[in-house]
Amino acid sequence: MDETLLMIPGPTNVPRRVLEAMSAPILNHRGVEFGEILEDTNAMMSEVFQTNNESYLLTGSGTSGMEALLANVLEKDDKVLNIVGGKFGERLMQLTETFNGQSIELTVPWGHAVNPDDVKKILEENDDIKAVTMVHNESSTAVVNPLKEVGNVLKDYDALFLVDTVSSLAGDDVKVDEYNVDACITGSQKCLAAPPGMAAITINDEAWSVIDKVDSQTYYLNMKKYRKSGDKKPSQTPFTPSVSLVYAMQEALSIVLEEGLDERIKRHALGAKATRSAVKGLGLELFAEENAYSNTLTAIKMPEGVTDSDLRGTMRNKYGIELAGGQDHLKGNVFRIGHMGMTGLNELSMTFAALEMTLKELGQDIELGSGVVALEKAYL
Ligand SMILES: *Cc1c(COP(=O)(O)O)cnc(C)c1O
Repeated sequence: MDETLLMIPGPTNVPRRVLEAMSAPILNHRGVEFGEILEDTNAMMSEVFQTNNESYLLTGSGTSGMEALLANVLEKDDKVLNIVGGKFGERLMQLTETFNGQSIELTVPWGHAVNPDDVKKILEENDDIKAVTMVHNESSTAVVNPLKEVGNVLKDYDALFLVDTVSSLAGDDVKVDEYNVDACITGSQKCLAAPPGMAAITINDEAWSVIDKVDSQTYYLNMKKYRKSGDKKPSQTPFTPSVSLVYAMQEALSIVLEEGLDERIKRHALGAKATRSAVKGLGLELFAEENAYSNTLTAIKMPEGVTDSDLRGTMRNKYGIELAGGQDHLKGNVFRIGHMGMTGLNELSMTFAALEMTLKELGQDIELGSGVVALEKAYL
């Protein structure tokens, strides 16, 4: 193998077509030719967000999108309900505080999904909540939150629904318009299988009407500037974008739409199901609660007597496969397998074959083939 197999929750392996698109000559970012590429890419972005809103590309990792969500909406002491069930939920809360908002934290135990009734309860008790933040797919715990159901709750309230779909868009069901999401962000390097370095945001009229009243707390991520430049002919970004990464996004989104969004989500769901079968076949335990399993990554409890560095070190050094460890208090207690982007049966077969051998070498009582057989059965 001439490259590492990235079975982590981003970055994911990037198709050759996308890598080659990035080697095209750099264009004037204010010229007609680039304007067309930008418009095409933004239109595809909206299609993948399943929205009639405009979408905008940001030069920055997924976190720049998270920052844009809050920095454009908040004024001092605005109340925000932050749903926090893992590392990324925490980040949205920290950003709320960074931009001088008043955070009301809805704590969800790690490994669990939020209960929409709990969101409703807090909204009932506080009629001045300006926004609710939620991470759709919490990558630190491999849990998916009920986007549609929470969106449904929000319908009855004025609060904006601000959602992070960095590790779910194009790998799980994200219907921005239908689910009542007011602003939604994603990142390039996860299910979209583009290189890291870009975020995208889409904003509906309701959110714009709030943003238009607010003196934005950011210069670089001021979305009013993005709207103004985006509306120009040719379409532009307010500051020089990463031109090559825009080419990459255009190609990656084309691949998503060629495969078909529904097909791609189904492929992710099958990969997730097969992964869980293989984990159980190996006699290992899943971390997340049932019914909250992510489509795009799986967290597995570290088997007794195995260290994270031995497990992931062997996988990396001997078999060329990168897995992810646990974050914060889960460090050493779980490991995570990303099955997002272009990942399918081939990559998962390699991963589970190598995982079985790794566990055997580390002295675990594993029956070789038990994971791979379960994987095959799930796929047949
Ligand atoms: C990866 C990820 C992010 C963004 O991380 P960056 O390192 O800034 O790209 C945000 N939210 C979730 C859920 C993620 O998985």
